[in-house]
Amino acid sequence: MRTLKWDPMFDPEEETTTTIAWISFPSLPSNFFGRETVFSLAAAVGKPLQVDMATRNQTRPSCARVKVEVDLLGEFPKRINRCMKKTNGEVMEKWVRIKYDYVPKYCKTCMLQGHDEQQCFVEHPELYPKKEKKNVEADDREERGKTQKTNEANQDEEKDNLEERIAIQQKEKTNKFEESKFKRGGWRKQPEKVCAKVDIPTGNKFGALENDAT
Ligand SMILES: [Zn+2]
Repeated sequence: MRTLKWDPMFDPEEETTTTIAWISFPSLPSNFFGRETVFSLAAAVGKPLQVDMATRNQTRPSCARVKVEVDLLGEFPKRINRCMKKTNGEVMEKWVRIKYDYVPKYCKTCMLQGHDEQQCFVEHPELYPKKEKKNVEADDREERGKTQKTNEANQDEEKDNLEERIAIQQKEKTNKFEESKFKRGGWRKQPEKVCAKVDIPTGNKFGALENDAT
């Protein structure tokens, strides 16, 4: 969200060219941190509104900061010449550097803040993201999606097959185990049923043992 200056001629289609910006003077000696001095320097950029707390209280000697109302179509000087007249009439010149916080650009074609004519899609349609390119990309994405789906389906099928194979192997293994267990004579539970299942002749050694036990 951006706050814009109140304008009685406000038109939602056109944005005002004025905005609020913070500027600072990084090389300004702290004896010039007085509100009047800072304001007189800031007037080179726009209409000074207020100095920040640190400047007012002189708690940050590194730079003075001031809030300014600026015209986005105006000048944004990088430095200003500060002239001082000595008591003997000699004029001293000193350049003061100006640092800007974020200042939005303004497009005179669109009457909007946020971009200028160089970045304007209306002025330079070639800068607008290509529609064909977008479609190609979308198609690519769709194609990739399809391939992925097919792959997933195949993987699922493979997985099912694998699971089936594992189940069969497991079953075979269990049967073999039960069979060997049975053969070793380790089986004690429902021998007749297992016998029938694995088709072991009743006249084997184990069967004889069972017969002995009864
Ligand atoms: Zn524009």
